[in-house]
Amino acid sequence: MEPPLQTAAFNPAAGDPAGVRRADANPAQLIDQIRALEELKAAASAAQVRVTAVFDALTRQAQATAGLKADQLGKGVGAQIGLARRESPNRGTRMLGISRILTREMPHTLHALTRGVINEWRATILVKETACLSLEDRQRIDEQVAGNLAELESLGDNQLIARTKTLSYALDPHSVVNRASKAASERYVSCRPAPDTMTYLTGLLPVAQGVGVFAALTREADRLRAAGDSRTKGQIMADTLVERVTGRAKAEDVRVQVQLVMTDRALLAGSAEPAVLPGYGMVPAQFARDLVRKTGSRTDKATRTWLRRLYTEPSTGQLVGMDSLARLVPEGLARFIAVRDQVCRMPWCGAPIRHFDHIKPFRDGGTTSAENIQGLCEACNQAKEAPGWSAAVVTQPAPGNTGAAAATRHTVETITPTGHRYGSTSPPLPGATESAQSESDSNEHLFNESVSAAEAIIRPFTVVPHPDGLFPLQFIDLRAA
Ligand SMILES: [Zn+2]
Repeated sequence: MEPPLQTAAFNPAAGDPAGVRRADANPAQLIDQIRALEELKAAASAAQVRVTAVFDALTRQAQATAGLKADQLGKGVGAQIGLARRESPNRGTRMLGISRILTREMPHTLHALTRGVINEWRATILVKETACLSLEDRQRIDEQVAGNLAELESLGDNQLIARTKTLSYALDPHSVVNRASKAASERYVSCRPAPDTMTYLTGLLPVAQGVGVFAALTREADRLRAAGDSRTKGQIMADTLVERVTGRAKAEDVRVQVQLVMTDRALLAGSAEPAVLPGYGMVPAQFARDLVRKTGSRTDKATRTWLRRLYTEPSTGQLVGMDSLARLVPEGLARFIAVRDQVCRMPWCGAPIRHFDHIKPFRDGGTTSAENIQGLCEACNQAKEAPGWSAAVVTQPAPGNTGAAAATRHTVETITPTGHRYGSTSPPLPGATESAQSESDSNEHLFNESVSAAEAIIRPFTVVPHPDGLFPLQFIDLRAA
């Protein structure tokens, strides 16, 4: 093997991002180094798999000693793996599951990973493709496929899947049927952001249904185009999909619970500060204004635009909180937290918020206040409930959040049972970077205001400084009744 990569101090200005001394480089050696590093990554993955399995066993042992019930053992382990690997708790839990299988059931695959013959993804393929087999059959495939390192090395992803499938079908034809029903149980629909204020709506469906939906859309597009519709086939298919799923007669009529967060300057004074669409992210100010205006001007009485005001501290953009004496988070506060946090607050998670969590538990005297409540997804909320986890609001912003405004944004520190600390600072809000310009109707109060945005746009806007010097942020809820 070649000696380790020669690196110099990192110097982006030198135009040599890897820090490789170009003068010493020989192309053939560089290729050898790329291969050596690839094998090193695989070996590191294998070591991570083993360490993960030992951590899991130790934690379960400690939890059992502490008197945890059998079905609660292992709680919070996946989340800790995720945090350590800078991945979501959800992915951490999957990685934990793969570690358990590789160390207990598939020794040949783990060996191949250790030797660098396959990478972490191919080891995952072998785990996934044998998931529906008996332990005995799985071990047989482990030996047949991963026991032959020379052959294994020659297989690409698709070939590896095909080879595993062929063998498992020969061993257990029923497993294919089981696989199909397991796969069908994993059907889902997801929505993720695409560039230019578009989204990808993805459905993972059983083949007959997926093909059926596509054929129905194609037929409708062909029919309309034959009848003279000037839209493209793709446009008609997309519009038809929206119309049929939402039950609206026209795709552009659909607006169900779209929420927008923007400053009053962006809404009313034409400022260019971007707005936030919760669940999507930043959108251009003009796009947000058009969305509000279009809705406001509709004759459709069922669609209403609600405009609420949230106030931010002038210089920092920090939302001004509200308190409640109850344990249950009131609707106004929940909305406030949803705007402030946008997604699950656990570092690297990013899942939608499902729970409003008392950072310091209510039973320990934690208050129901904006300060002490954070938005979490279901998995993270459960992980945080495992023994040995704690969290606290801190004043030091999490790493990567720099600047004066970050120092005042809401920051939570989660401490795992091993004593590792992970900081999470709430994302910046629209208007947070601008200097203080406090303008608002003085008689409006936090959360209580619901006026029609159409009215607000048409009505001359009286600018009166807020008595507390606060800065208004518009929370706009476009909903179809
Ligand atoms: Zn989460």
